[in-house]
Amino acid sequence: MSPQEVDTIIRGGTIVTSSSAFEASVAIQGETIVGVGPEATLPPGKRVIDATGRYVLPGAIDVHTHFGHHDDWRIGPQAAAYGGLTTVINFISAGPDNDLPQAIEQRRQEADRDSVVDFGFHFILRNDPQSLRGVPRAVEMGVSTFKMFMAYPKWGSIWCPDDFIAEAMEIIGDSGGMAQVHCESGLVIDYLEQRQIREERVRPSDFLASHPDWTEEESANRALKIAELTGCPVYVVHLSAHLALERIKESQAAGQQVWTETCPQYLLLSDAEMERWGPFAKIGPPLRSADGMNQEAMWRGSRDGFISCVASDHASFDREQKEAGWKNIFFDGEGKTIPYGAPSVETMVPLMYSEGVVKRGLPITWMARVLSENPARLFGLFPRKGVIQAGADADILIIDPNREKTIRGEEQHVTADYTLYEDWKISGWPVMSLLRGRVLLNDGKLELTPGAGAYLARKGPLPPIAGPAG
Ligand SMILES: [Zn+2]
Repeated sequence: MSPQEVDTIIRGGTIVTSSSAFEASVAIQGETIVGVGPEATLPPGKRVIDATGRYVLPGAIDVHTHFGHHDDWRIGPQAAAYGGLTTVINFISAGPDNDLPQAIEQRRQEADRDSVVDFGFHFILRNDPQSLRGVPRAVEMGVSTFKMFMAYPKWGSIWCPDDFIAEAMEIIGDSGGMAQVHCESGLVIDYLEQRQIREERVRPSDFLASHPDWTEEESANRALKIAELTGCPVYVVHLSAHLALERIKESQAAGQQVWTETCPQYLLLSDAEMERWGPFAKIGPPLRSADGMNQEAMWRGSRDGFISCVASDHASFDREQKEAGWKNIFFDGEGKTIPYGAPSVETMVPLMYSEGVVKRGLPITWMARVLSENPARLFGLFPRKGVIQAGADADILIIDPNREKTIRGEEQHVTADYTLYEDWKISGWPVMSLLRGRVLLNDGKLELTPGAGAYLARKGPLPPIAGPAG
């Protein structure tokens, strides 16, 4: 460490890691953390950030975003930054004319130009065995995770049958990557949708009946068995159902490399929202039963270390695209699917602090675990990201526990002007973030501009921190 002076000192705050919270200062030189400890042991800083009375966490990572569509690479990452995030890992796919490496190059150019936060990619595979030839090269390019949908046969090649999944997992595992699976039994769900349409059970409140919780368990079982067969590490995205979590825990106990995430919407919302929000609350998997049983299981699973990450699954749509779903929650008048998805990238960090730490009394270390260290470990960014320690990128999130705010859709920075958390009162708010040593978010304003974010070439998975958070 340079003995004279460093660029920045963050003083006075409570440093939070995945295992402890303690009073200390952080020294930053250039893009990197160079020291953590009592301020007297660190060199003086050219800039001093006073974090007295605040939590200083590692930069938060959202490993499940869908930018590049309604929220483009400028708007989406900006909204993420306003919400306290410093890194996103976004889903991309290939067009009809390009292979995986070409598609990665193209998306990277766009995101390099526009993203204000650091970014990596997961690749969505379609049921096209030819495309699998690009997997080893994609892993070399730093795209080490590949998502397959067991849902949506109604959309053609986006649905991956079991034989394709097996072949893909074999290649992904051999290449040092990890498979991600959207677990819902698509054929049964499509059948149930058609049956409900025939029976004219198509109101928003009829939606959950077409996506029963056992379809998530059933397809998770298949995904885990195929992963076991092929030796491929597997990650179940957006877990929502208690039954599926129990199935995942069995495989974890048997030593299989299987991990999962849940999302704020599955922790905090239920089917009861369909009455108020109708198509705006249509997401896949659906919001689960209003008895709270599934939500409770997601909280417990996350607290006890069976669910490694919390991610947003942010997918915002315009009002017009959703509105037709009030009449028929499945399809509009022209037979087009009412889109699945809701905006959530901007509200995730405040909600997890306010609802998880303040209301439910989860330890603050839980946040560092599910939003930083575990995402970094599982998605090949550790120890560059996810921790506050010498040598790591100086990505920092500062939360003021005394700041109160009410969530309003019209104040969001995404294209959607609605949020399923309208009028929710939040205790504690992300007031500052640093991205590789530079202040990104400062009291509700962004100090960095589009393009400040950098592409992250990721490696294969490292096991996450498990066991009860404490
Ligand atoms: Zn998603």
